[in-house]
Amino acid sequence: MEKFITVAIDGPAAAGKSTIAKRVAKLLNYTYLDTGAMYRAVTYAVIKAGLDPEIEEESVKVLPGLKIDLKEDGTVLCNDEDVTKVIREPIVSSKVSYIAAMKPIRLALVDMQREMANSKNVILDGRDIGTYVLPNANVKIFQIASVECRAKRRYIENLEKGIPSTLEEITESVKKRDYIDSHRDFAPLRKAEDAVEIDTSDMTIEESVDAVLAVIKEKTGIEIPCH
Ligand code: C5P
Repeated sequence: MEKFITVAIDGPAAAGKSTIAKRVAKLLNYTYLDTGAMYRAVTYAVIKAGLDPEIEEESVKVLPGLKIDLKEDGTVLCNDEDVTKVIREPIVSSKVSYIAAMKPIRLALVDMQREMANSKNVILDGRDIGTYVLPNANVKIFQIASVECRAKRRYIENLEKGIPSTLEEITESVKKRDYIDSHRDFAPLRKAEDAVEIDTSDMTIEESVDAVLAVIKEKTGIEIPCH
């Protein structure tokens, strides 16, 4: 039976996990799964249905028949609607951590994530991949950066994507999300005991990619292609 490699990248909000994970996945020809996009998609579905994303009994109403597709090109579909851009809007970012703290929603998404990560080489980024979704992942990375760095990077990213926001707003949103994500009862954000911590505060994207690749090489012994 072929042995597949699973790489888990967890860490706080806006730590650059998806940027790094996407590049590493491309280089190694692995499938990249953005689990945060799935929680965002559910949040969008709840808001769109006119339900309150802070109330579990209301939010779970979107679960029956819920369909989320993460396409190879980064497109995110929620019940066949292209939500790639809208799930990055501040209205979704400000509510997603409430949705992610709801156990029935986490259980449903974790099932989908385990199914998607089955039988291929994958890199997943999120909050609970190494601790809960895939506790036997071959490689576990906990990627962090200072709040200031993270907020600034997200602010620039939003500017580039044409998403209106201010640095103050993002700083507050990032801090609030980190608080809720790390204090929820079920599968909170925390570093797995066997995860390698990488602080990217003073690293460029290339340096961060290299740091992650070095951990993958060390843990799995695979050859890293020239890049
Ligand atoms: O990664 P991203 O910032 O897009 O994730 C959005 C939110 O989804 C997080 O703040 C967190 O509340 C939730 N999340 C989670 N578990 C994951 C991935 C994301 O709780 N594995």
